[in-house]
Order: sequence, then C-alpha cells, then structure tokens
Amino acid sequence: MNARAPKGTSDMLPDVGAAWEYLQRTAAALFARYGYAPVYTPLFEHTEVFTRGIGEATDIVSKEMYTFEDKGGRSITLRPEGTASVVRAALEHNLTANGQGTKLYYAGPMFRYERPQKGRMRQFWQIGAEALNMPDPSVDAEVIVMLWRFFETLGIPTSHMRLLLNTMGDEQCRPAYREKVAGFIREHSAELCEECNRREATNPLRAFDCKNPQCREVMAGAPLLRDELCEGCAAHYSAVKDSLDALGVPYVEDPRLVRGLDYYTRTVFEVQVDAGLGSQNAIGGGGRYDRLMEQYGGPPTPGLGFALGFERTLMAMQATGAFVPAATVTQVYVARVDESVSGAAFGVAAALRDSGVATEMDHQSRSLKSQFKQADRLGARMVVVVGPDELSSGQVTLRDMGSKEETRVALGAITAAVRDALSIAE
Ligand SMILES: [Zn+2]
Ligand SMILES: [Zn+2]
Repeated sequence: MNARAPKGTSDMLPDVGAAWEYLQRTAAALFARYGYAPVYTPLFEHTEVFTRGIGEATDIVSKEMYTFEDKGGRSITLRPEGTASVVRAALEHNLTANGQGTKLYYAGPMFRYERPQKGRMRQFWQIGAEALNMPDPSVDAEVIVMLWRFFETLGIPTSHMRLLLNTMGDEQCRPAYREKVAGFIREHSAELCEECNRREATNPLRAFDCKNPQCREVMAGAPLLRDELCEGCAAHYSAVKDSLDALGVPYVEDPRLVRGLDYYTRTVFEVQVDAGLGSQNAIGGGGRYDRLMEQYGGPPTPGLGFALGFERTLMAMQATGAFVPAATVTQVYVARVDESVSGAAFGVAAALRDSGVATEMDHQSRSLKSQFKQADRLGARMVVVVGPDELSSGQVTLRDMGSKEETRVALGAITAAVRDALSIAE
C-alpha cells in the first residue's frame, strides 16, 4: 500500500497539533468575550448549499470542490468554507427566528481541490465566526476588532499586520457598478488575460483579483465602487470606519479588495502579514453577506463574519517569533535506581499526576544515567530519584535540574515538596 497522505493533505503531528489546539483555546476564550458560542456543522453538505451560497461562477464552486455522489444518489460536497454551512444550520434550526440575533464560531477542516503550495493545502484548517441578524455597522466594526485582537493575542506584532477594508455595495448600487466594470473589461479586452475576459460575463469584479501583472495594471484604471455607492452603503461604510477609528484600530482602505465569493455585500476586510508567507499573505478575512440566507429560501437575514487560516497564521507566528506552545510539557521526571523500586516509582508518578503535576517516568527499562538524559531532553525541572537505600528509610531524593541541588524528602511528603518547588499554589 501507499503509506503516504494524499496530495495536498498533511498529518498534524504533535507540535502542529498543539499549536492548533492553542489557537482554538485562544479563539474560544476571546470570542466568548464578544458573545460567540461554538457550533459544529457536518464536514459535508448537500452540494447546493455551496453552489447557491458561494456562487456558481466562483473559483471555489467551478473548480475546487470535492463533490461526489453518495450511495443514496445524493450530490454531496466536502465543505470548502464554513459560512455557507453555518447559515444553513441557522436557518434549519430557526436560530434567527423572530428577529433574534445569534453569534457563532467554528473551528475545523475545510477542503478545496487546488494546486498545493506553501500555505495552501487541499485539506486546511480554519477558525471562523458569524454574526447573524445584526444589520448595524457597529457589528461590522466589532467583528473586525475581534479578528484583529485575535492575531494580537497570539503575539503577531501589529507592525507586521495590515488590515484592508472595502465595501462591495449592495443590490441597490452593485448591479450598475458591475455593468460598468464589465464595460471596462470589454473596452480593454485585448490587454486582459483570457480568464479576465471570461469573467466579464460571469463575475466581472473578480478581474480585480487577477494575479496577472498586466491585468492588475489595467484594472488599476477601472471604475471604483467607492465612487458609485448608494446612500445606504455609503453611510454604512463610513459608520464602520468611524467605529474602527474610535478604537484606534489601524486599517487601510483598499477599493480593489474583492473577496472571491458572490455572497458578500457591503463591508469586506482582510488581514495580511508581511512575514513568512510570500504572496499567500492573507491570514484572515471576511465580510457582510446580507442576502445569503434568502438564497437558501429563508427570510431576509443580514449576516457577517470572518474565517482565518490556521496554517498561514502559524507560519506568521513562527516568522515573527510569537510564542507557540510545545506539544508536551514535563515538569517532573521520576527515575528509579533499579527494578526493585519500580512499584514505588510508579506510585510517586501517579500521586504527582493526581496532584496536577505533569510527570513522566521510564517505560523502557533505561539505565539510571539514560533516565537522567531523558529527563533533560523532556525539559523536566525536577527529578525524583527512587532508590532502594533511601526507600528503606522511607525517603526519596528530589533533584533540581537547574541548580543540581539534591534534598532527601519523606515519601509521604514528596507531592507537597514538588508542588512547593514548582510554586504551585494550593
Ligand atoms: Zn487577468
Ligand atoms: Zn448600496
């Protein structure tokens, strides 16, 4: 058999697994302060949840979905992103019935069939948050602040981050603007790539996203929605900016920021970093999607949210020297001098663990010398040495690995002595 993970996937080994759990813990604690509760939706959905929500003409739906027919003949798709599923779940379970708002967050794997590259995998991990039925611009600012604070909490220096902000308009002002951009693409058809020419008919705004340098140059001259906003969108956008200004959250207006999903309306935003990621430098982003629930046959229900990528966030943390917790932490190692005291050593380790101390011991019949080496490798701050001579007088030896100081401690007092030395409060 082929003992390798499929292309574009990777095993999350302990170091990375610990980092993923750390991000989830950090998110859960921070998001709870903003009133968000966890939601776990299935990893796969009926395909139309994504085709309707994200849009047929988007790259995700047209090229990147893992879609298959299940044994019951249903078209099933592995979720390529989280928002569509969360909105589907909110509709199914009436979470926004009778005008109530709801704030939800999620964490887990997403799947997109893409060419694997640095920071872009076919199975990748995201944390996201969604605020439903909240039309006020204050919640746009709140969500953006929460995302910004999350990266700050992780220790990514703000000097390495950039917050981009834009508005995509709404059904009042966007159609006319889309037409203008489509017209612009037709006028410059010869200078633009094939893909951009195709987009003219399906999704002209995506031409702003083209990676082709010549397309970028041409599109820099295209009309901007900023200048075509309806009154409602203009007021909403300026209120979002006022709230961010009031908190001193630094943002850069980028009139060409269009996120690659059809469902966005009004506010869109993205956080980029300038360290460790090259061109795939967005670590999180999102926007408002006031029409999404209607696409599923629900009542008009505004919403907005963001998703942040685990892999890229971790790369940014590593590149900027942010703290990433170790996979395991061993505080104390219990070493035994010979086999005759194995039972006592096992008992000491168990008592330490029960009292809350991270403890490791030998399970491989190592010599005393190599047990000390192992304790060192694990970074243990202390070693409890259990030997037959000391044990016959009811004692063990406690060795401080830093100062190399050794003290005799009564067997019954070892837990208290270790906790004291580690300064663990009762
Ligand atoms: Zn192009
Ligand atoms: Zn508008």
